[in-house]
Amino acid sequence: MNLRVQGISTDEVIKFREGGFDASGQLAQQYVSNWLGGPCRHCLGLIAEGEMKLVLSYRPFESPQPYAETGPIFLHRDSCERYDGEKLPDWFSLLDPAVVRGYSDDHWIRYDTGNVVPGSEITSACQSILSDRSVAYVHIRSKFNCFQCRVDRVAAADE
Ligand SMILES: [Zn+2]
Repeated sequence: MNLRVQGISTDEVIKFREGGFDASGQLAQQYVSNWLGGPCRHCLGLIAEGEMKLVLSYRPFESPQPYAETGPIFLHRDSCERYDGEKLPDWFSLLDPAVVRGYSDDHWIRYDTGNVVPGSEITSACQSILSDRSVAYVHIRSKFNCFQCRVDRVAAADE
């Protein structure tokens, strides 16, 4: 199964960079990154030591509802390009373990899909969850429950 992996939308990121409120109703906090490892949820690249980063509260759902979890994320403060690819960037293997879970069309958690897997098994876990056509998409989170990215199923050409 082919996957589509995307960072959060550029429109949302621009809003945060330009002083829009985060999911907690506050301004994003700005820091100089003092380590390599904080992943930007827009470009899905690691924010290098010395680069400026935003730390903010993010809800990876369009509207509030009981399953719309909110938590902390990092973003590059300055311009970067939204990730849109067919596989996870290599650093996802460092998410050890990672939390993966599927959501239904109404954005509620599908309890039968939740799992905690080694970083090396995230892709296969996503494929397994998305093989159930009634699952709409998958969210990947760190062991701290920080949202990393959304993964969608790409329908094969012959389907
Ligand atoms: Zn970035």
